[in-house]
Amino acid sequence: METQLLEGKKLAKKMQTVMETRVSQLKEKGLTPGLTVVLVGDDPASQTYVRNKERQATKVGIKSEVIRLDASITEEELLQVVYQLNEDKTVHGILVQLPLPRHMNEQRVLRAIDYEKDVDGFHPMNMGNFLLGNEGALPCTPLGIMTLLKEYEIEIEGKNALVIGRSNIVGKPMALMLMKDHATITIAHSRTKNLKELTKQADIVVAAIGRGHFITGDFLKPGAVVVDVGMNRDENGKLIGDVDTESAMGIASYITPVPGGVGPMTITMLLEQTIRKVEVD
Ligand code: NAP
Repeated sequence: METQLLEGKKLAKKMQTVMETRVSQLKEKGLTPGLTVVLVGDDPASQTYVRNKERQATKVGIKSEVIRLDASITEEELLQVVYQLNEDKTVHGILVQLPLPRHMNEQRVLRAIDYEKDVDGFHPMNMGNFLLGNEGALPCTPLGIMTLLKEYEIEIEGKNALVIGRSNIVGKPMALMLMKDHATITIAHSRTKNLKELTKQADIVVAAIGRGHFITGDFLKPGAVVVDVGMNRDENGKLIGDVDTESAMGIASYITPVPGGVGPMTITMLLEQTIRKVEVD
């Protein structure tokens, strides 16, 4: 079987080109979407993500700002920054980059963001609305994956979908989105005993584990659609996914490459949700 790549990078580019037009139309009406990212500390991976977000937001015409704060600031000081952004009418989207330093309570900080400006979909109000099927911002990574699957007209209804990973930002919302589109879902995690058996039965596999090349071709059902969320570094510092793509080629029907699959879609969804905040106002 020939395995086709689900090219997130290509779709992201296409969507961002349309966004450029949408933003310039908004600017003609005197409206400039504003996105502010708050980065606390100097975690190298976070710095790279934030730089990418800033670059791409600016490219589509969004007014992008990054507030860089020292890792030693107190939670209270961070909350004050968030409250100011909540009040700032030029800021339509606020994103506090995770993880935060250990001395801070992430949930408390996320709760402090005005949920109307939460473009990451992590505020409990948005999470709750999502669970109930109400309108609101959605977690960007699973939303990007669903957008990518739709672009390639991947059938979801009635399929067996296995999500490996149960984090709040990827695994859980991913499973819910697939269920909403009528897949029969299974969620696996570190205590799951029969992962290979489950994977063998899955028509759609989403790997969000955080372990390089953990899923190999022999785990897969022939024809499976494979989404690789993982972003890991190998011993040479090279970016690798949770799936060993090479061994999956010829077995999977579709697979997302790493890099160039899920990552670019995540950022694109962040930009999309920021622009929409202004379009619907
Ligand atoms: P996370 O919070 O660390 O969650 C990892 C999940 O994998 C947990 O639920 C864990 O189970 C499960 N797991 C760990 N070992 C396992 C095993 N041996 N078998 C089955 N499940 C296992 O990570 P995350 O934030 O969801 O991110 C996952 C990966 O995606 C990371 O590589 C991250 O860098 C990447 N990521 C990429 C993007 C993107 O845009 N491309 C966005 C977000 C994250 P337990 O719950 O039992 O511990």
